[in-house]
Amino acid sequence: MKIILMGPPGSGKGTQASFVASLVQVNSMSSGDLFRENLANDTELGKLAKTYMDQGKYVPDDVTINMVMSWIEDSENNGGFILDGFPRTLSQAQALDDRLNGVGGIDKVILFNVPELELIKRLSGRILCRKCQTPYHKEFSPPTNDGACDKCGGDLFQRDDDSEVVVKERLKVYRQETDPVVERYRGIGNILEIDGSLPIRVVEKSLRTALG
Ligand code: AMP
Repeated sequence: MKIILMGPPGSGKGTQASFVASLVQVNSMSSGDLFRENLANDTELGKLAKTYMDQGKYVPDDVTINMVMSWIEDSENNGGFILDGFPRTLSQAQALDDRLNGVGGIDKVILFNVPELELIKRLSGRILCRKCQTPYHKEFSPPTNDGACDKCGGDLFQRDDDSEVVVKERLKVYRQETDPVVERYRGIGNILEIDGSLPIRVVEKSLRTALG
């Protein structure tokens, strides 16, 4: 199974990636997490990515495509994978098509639809675990103990790019660069649209039904 999770920032693709991965028994990759891992490890790639991420812009295609393609090349991901946050531009979609040409292509694209006002509310209150990346929301799903992850006890933090100004820019870039990618998959007809504004358990149920 090769699955792409698409949707604007805050639409819940990250939250659902591990659920979908456990359903179909393949690894999942978040391009945003790969950039943040590089940044935490102080690599040149991480430093370069930060200059774009801090402004809510996309990291250039050549850099992003190389990074994701090396992840796909890893033998562990040969049988299938879930891509969360890639492709986000038409060039990235083309590079992925070229890579998968002759090996079956993408099986399904899942698109999480959420109204823009809801996305802004979700992102501006979002906090994440530094260790295991579990997301919480200050108002809608706070952790039991202030500042600590319920799952692993790790520190909780707010992403720099979840500030209101940067969130608005990220949504603008999504409409400009990623809406055309959604249209491309709609044209191919392998897209499955999910109402991402529903509660997490309900979204999980739709995913389970959709993926059989
Ligand atoms: P995310 O964690 O998916 O919200 O991504 C955080 C940031 O990483 C984005 O705002 C971009 O700056 C960068 N990024 C992640 N994935 C991509 C991609 N496929 N293409 C370009 N930039 C990306």
